[in-house]
Amino acid sequence: MDYKDYIAEIQDFPIDGVLFRDITPIMQNGKAFRAACNEMVEFAKKVNADVIVGPESRGFIFGCPVAYELEIGFVPIRKPGKLPRATESIEYDLEYGTNELHIHADAIKKGQRVLIIDDLLATGGTVKGTIDLVEKLGGEVVGCNFLIELADLKGRDLLDNYEVNSLIIYQ
Ligand code: IMP
Repeated sequence: MDYKDYIAEIQDFPIDGVLFRDITPIMQNGKAFRAACNEMVEFAKKVNADVIVGPESRGFIFGCPVAYELEIGFVPIRKPGKLPRATESIEYDLEYGTNELHIHADAIKKGQRVLIIDDLLATGGTVKGTIDLVEKLGGEVVGCNFLIELADLKGRDLLDNYEVNSLIIYQ
């Protein structure tokens, strides 16, 4: 299946000069969405994941079906002020300003094999922050899975030590 057929491209969204990749068409097509999730399930089996971690909010869309299919847990990564119990957090730099990610401090057990799932890999800041949070809690990141990778932004360079699987790569 050519998943690119189900990605819309919007020029100058959310700000001028950005070409935004919109994944909602793939979510709206049951067969394409299921095929993409199934590929992620196969990768999760290959790396023998025992928990899925997904950054807010589009990581939830692909991460939860994979966790459901494999009968394993799903752990959300969220922006500040969203998780109700004690959290571990990390701050990382964006082009302008900083971003902060949180995880429930008891969400990952030491030695758990963690697969990170998100919709899109761009500069890699989000996934690197997520990896750091998982590792702070003693989890082992066994892979990172994305629907889309924007190769020219070189996020993969931050993931040298990890197994990466992207269903769609834009050069
Ligand atoms: P990074 O941290 O620069 O790798 O950006 C990845 C994060 O930003 C992901 O969580 C995406 O959901 C979001 N993102 C960045 N660009 C796009 C886009 O074009 N479409 C959808 N999400 C995007």
